[in-house]
Amino acid sequence: MSTFSDQRPRWAIFAARGTDGAILAVAAGLLCRVQPIAGLAVLVVGLFLLLSGARRHPAEVRAGPAFARLVALAAAALLPPSVLLVQYNSGKTRDVPLIAVACALLFLLVLARVAVLVADQHRLAVTDALTGLATRRAFEDRLRAPRRDRTFGVVLLDIDHFKRINDAFGHPAGDRVLREVAARLRVAAGPGVTLARYGGEEFALLAPGAGAARTAELADRVHAAVGGEPVDLGRGVRRAVTVSVGTALLPADTADPDELIVLADRALYAAKQAGRDRVVATASRRPTEADGWPAPLPRPRRTKLEAA
Ligand code: GH3
Ligand code: MG
Ligand code: MG
Repeated sequence: MSTFSDQRPRWAIFAARGTDGAILAVAAGLLCRVQPIAGLAVLVVGLFLLLSGARRHPAEVRAGPAFARLVALAAAALLPPSVLLVQYNSGKTRDVPLIAVACALLFLLVLARVAVLVADQHRLAVTDALTGLATRRAFEDRLRAPRRDRTFGVVLLDIDHFKRINDAFGHPAGDRVLREVAARLRVAAGPGVTLARYGGEEFALLAPGAGAARTAELADRVHAAVGGEPVDLGRGVRRAVTVSVGTALLPADTADPDELIVLADRALYAAKQAGRDRVVATASRRPTEADGWPAPLPRPRRTKLEAA
């Protein structure tokens, strides 16, 4: 069974196999014209390579077949100029227009194939394989991207005592919890908020344009969404899962996006220290040297949920 939750989108599979098939057809067709048996052999072997592992996640395709497919594509792309050379050597020129068209077609198809590969690699780099959320890298890229409106709210969450779930029920149950927490966060975060798996059992939300009130409301919402109902761990076991949450604001807490994460992390740490299962916001002012910055931790501010 596949351990990857982000199966490749249908368009990526069709685009990749479609261009591979077209390259193969052009190359085999051209070869058939000069060497029918060799052309047929290329077609059969090519189809076999093409169909093997077509639906697999790129990380699951073993290096051998992947390399063989690459060699087959390279050979197909080099076929028209080779045929041209052979014909030129034997003084034949009747197929020159055909070979020129095949060359151009193959060049365009190989370019299209490269474009599909680049899109695939990009998708893998920005998508967490287990949860389907954005990766930490994608999150930080978005945080650092130049924008006219430099107002952000950042919310960091960490599942409480997650190791106990792994220890008691096994890693597959832990993975289930991670996927379920991600799904609940996705619903609670709403549109316009970037949601990422920031680390092992840590998640991060980036709310563009959110000030103190909206960020606190978002933090309370995601905190309540995760803890609202027990999570199904499989085999009829259900367990309550809670998260500790830290928030920070740009520019109210800091003007530096990297420091924003540090501040949210400190607030999260303060939430853990205060007993877990709560939201703590960074004090909405920039710490100065008078505060002994960077230590101690900014003073935690109680949120609606804690006050209740
Ligand atoms: P705390 O409340 O202080 O955050 O305690 P904790 O147990 O949640 O934190 P700790 O850092 O001690 O343990 C985190 C665990 O998360 C350890 C690691 O094995 C587990 N983990 C990290 N990534 C994954 C994953 O992808 N799947 C599973 N099942 N476990 C993971
Ligand atoms: Mg952690
Ligand atoms: Mg934890």
